[in-house]
Amino acid sequence: MNIEGVEYSMTQWFPKLCEFDHHGWHTNPYIGREFHGIWGNFDVHIHLPEGYGIGATGVKQSTTSSPMPTGLPGTIHHYKASNVIDFAWAADPDFIEEAVDVDGVTLRLIHQANAEIDSNWTVLADYAAQAMAYINEDIGPYMYPEYTVIQGGDGGMEYPMITLITGERSLRSLVGVTVHEMAHSWFQGMVATNESLHEWMDEGFTSWAESRCMASLFADPMKPDENPHKWAYASYINQNLSGNEEPLITHADHYKTNRAYGVGAYSKGEVLVEQLGAVMGTEVRDEAMRTYFKNWAFKHPGPNDFKREMERASGLELDWYFQYMMHTTDAVDYAVESVVNNEGTVTLELSRRGDMPMPQDVTLTWENGSTTLVHIPLVMMRGHRTLADGEILAADWPWVDVNYTLEVPSQGKLSAVTLDAEGLQADVHRDNNAITFDLERDQEARQSN
Ligand SMILES: [Zn+2]
Repeated sequence: MNIEGVEYSMTQWFPKLCEFDHHGWHTNPYIGREFHGIWGNFDVHIHLPEGYGIGATGVKQSTTSSPMPTGLPGTIHHYKASNVIDFAWAADPDFIEEAVDVDGVTLRLIHQANAEIDSNWTVLADYAAQAMAYINEDIGPYMYPEYTVIQGGDGGMEYPMITLITGERSLRSLVGVTVHEMAHSWFQGMVATNESLHEWMDEGFTSWAESRCMASLFADPMKPDENPHKWAYASYINQNLSGNEEPLITHADHYKTNRAYGVGAYSKGEVLVEQLGAVMGTEVRDEAMRTYFKNWAFKHPGPNDFKREMERASGLELDWYFQYMMHTTDAVDYAVESVVNNEGTVTLELSRRGDMPMPQDVTLTWENGSTTLVHIPLVMMRGHRTLADGEILAADWPWVDVNYTLEVPSQGKLSAVTLDAEGLQADVHRDNNAITFDLERDQEARQSN
């Protein structure tokens, strides 16, 4: 019985098969972090005392009366599931069920009848349906016939075609955990990377999709430009600066602390995808995520498959990006060191203070509020993202050079010079990214920090 009194939360409940893949064997015991399974077809008969509500991976085939071995009345629930990596179920005598249709998929919500939570779960059905429709558009179509959100377990855990979540939550928390676990259907359920080895490709990509979906479900008209990924950036930057970060290449079970695992897998994984927008452009990245899902569903891709999909979409070499993000704890920190605006030319001294190189976007804001945008690619990208209208392409910045001088034609008095004005980069010291000017004074300024 779980903490909320759900009788059966049946996960990790049968001996699982492993397969020998191009990396060899992966027979990791489940220790409560990530887990991986091989593709299989399940044909499951669950024999329960009469009167139990049940939800499971798969599609129910039949319900047959059959006495229990004790002689009490019983029921056999028969499920089949095709092409799934695991099978989970939950059952309780107090379960009630609601079902909605989303783009032809039956979405079931099952929870204990309880006056205190019934209304939240009814509203949750609307949100869950909107969420599935959103992710269908954003990433690609959900490819199983059913999905069940069921009360059970000890928090929220993703399984194919079903998630077990605790149910006595505020509405926002109920929706948040449902959206997260549902988004796993794409990256854990269908793409199914070995998430023990590459936890960021499941938890991180899922968190990225969840943040986009939650921003759409709870759009705040007062904050239209709010970054949906700001908590992931803040959490990753905080961990990096603490000195306790561990590289993403660490096996999920073998991080030294839960915090390093959590921030790495969820936050840095989310940042890894979002920050690619600064390298390849956000629209190309979004399209590349859809292509990645389409090309790699049901194939257990690894990091190289993802990297090469991003390279094909962008036409850029991204080896360096994945080397730094996966294999090191090096961080991005670029600074505007000085700005001199005279005789028709603005001369900027920029520097890379952090160890991780990134292409740079410079915004010069003039006295009248107009802007000049400059993009500085890295040599090792062998190209650059699509430029915006009027955006200036500067000479490539070789990563071996810490300093870079940029000259831009002056358009009068400057009010500010800013690096990464869109906030796409996980720059760990954002306070040195801009120099602003007192328009009454000389157009020459230097960083003080
Ligand atoms: Zn998750």
